[in-house]
Amino acid sequence: MEQYYQREIETMEPSELKKLQSEKLKKQVRHVYEHNAYYRRLMDEKGVKPEDIQGVEDLCKLPFLSKQDLKDAYPTGMLSVPMTDCVRIHSTSGTTGKRVIAFYTQHDIDLWDECCARAIVATGGNEDSIVQVCYGYGLFTGGMGLHGGAGKVGALTLPMSSGNTERQIQFMMDLGASILCCTPSYAAYIGESLKEQGYMPEDIPLKAGIFGAEPWTEEMRQDIEKTLGIKAYDIYGLTEISGPGVAFECSEQTGMHINEDHFIAEIINPETGEVLPEGEKGELVFTCLDKEAFPMMRYRTRDICVLHRGKCSCGRTFLKMAKPMGRSDDMMIIRGVNVFPSQIETVLLKEGYTSNYQIIVDRVNNTDTFDVYVEFLPEDFEDTMKSIAAKEKKLQDALKTMLGISPKVHLVEPKSIARSEGKAVRVIDRRKLV
Ligand code: ADP
Ligand code: ZN
Repeated sequence: MEQYYQREIETMEPSELKKLQSEKLKKQVRHVYEHNAYYRRLMDEKGVKPEDIQGVEDLCKLPFLSKQDLKDAYPTGMLSVPMTDCVRIHSTSGTTGKRVIAFYTQHDIDLWDECCARAIVATGGNEDSIVQVCYGYGLFTGGMGLHGGAGKVGALTLPMSSGNTERQIQFMMDLGASILCCTPSYAAYIGESLKEQGYMPEDIPLKAGIFGAEPWTEEMRQDIEKTLGIKAYDIYGLTEISGPGVAFECSEQTGMHINEDHFIAEIINPETGEVLPEGEKGELVFTCLDKEAFPMMRYRTRDICVLHRGKCSCGRTFLKMAKPMGRSDDMMIIRGVNVFPSQIETVLLKEGYTSNYQIIVDRVNNTDTFDVYVEFLPEDFEDTMKSIAAKEKKLQDALKTMLGISPKVHLVEPKSIARSEGKAVRVIDRRKLV
């Protein structure tokens, strides 16, 4: 039986939900217009007044916000309450440049914690669960977000933070942790370490995992599920909007439900800004509906994905987002061809390799070089040079079929690629460093 943290909201009739969103949007726009000089200027420049926004259908009249706006307004220009009303800050991990500082009032924290509580309950979590949080604590939203959610659910929380994998395993086994929360790359690493210590999936007390904060493929999900003997759920979020829990996966595991009572999602064409119909791929844009300190309006995430609404077997009515393919700025253009790291991951795992890989792109004599390093499997240690070369060639051909261009594949020793305890660094693009 499906469990909900807030059944009435999570299974609300779509027409009711739209009414609720429209009411909240009107209020939110007025709040931002009155308290945020930066966004007021953008609205004035576009000739939009708060009274022009009467409901969700008027959303498209509002100006977009981009990461650049947040940089320009750094550090406090996007605050919509006095700083003294705030109780906490968080900051992006700075994956793509300068950090953004997000501010929260107690109301904003409660709202965010509730979103994470919904995600935990959707995986079968309840007050008897033991939730091991090994997302990083601190400025990063991962740790504190799931920690807050587990607290709302009334579970026993293990606030491990990331790193010290030996200790993670010891506490997991000694206390019988039932839900693991971390990045998928760290989950894979924990799984690998458990296996090395001789634990079989059935020895591991975990039942579910809540993994997000970085792109991961369906193949990686299956791999983690097998190693840990769990069901692995995706969770999505970003600091600018609150943190993890903006969207979460249910038992159906076919995309993440967006917490639509708090956030409206749109997909736009990243080049033209045109709003695209449901089902089309484009850039994900979020509008907050009831935040106090840092309400983003039509914030362009740069994450590329698809939205779809339809009946879900879990009974939730919230719109679903597909796994983001990565951000528009994760996309590499190599010899003129668009390449996403997730495409490479799909091929590697399908060919039986692990998710320990690294991509190095460089430019030599005006030509892009494209190298993929992946570890061969421990059982292949005995292989001859010739058979390794044959395996490299096979992988190279599979990648060429997927990508349209051919990387140089290097099979390297197990353990020679650095493991990640947080967000994995899959790509080193040396062209960007010059
Ligand atoms: P930074 O932008 O510095 O990484 P955040 O820690 O706020 O800062 O990360 C948010 C970003 O992480 C999202 O915009 C998205 O690109 C990525 N992300 C978060 N959750 C997922 C997920 N489940 N799948 C893919 N990407 C994700
Ligand atoms: Zn569902």
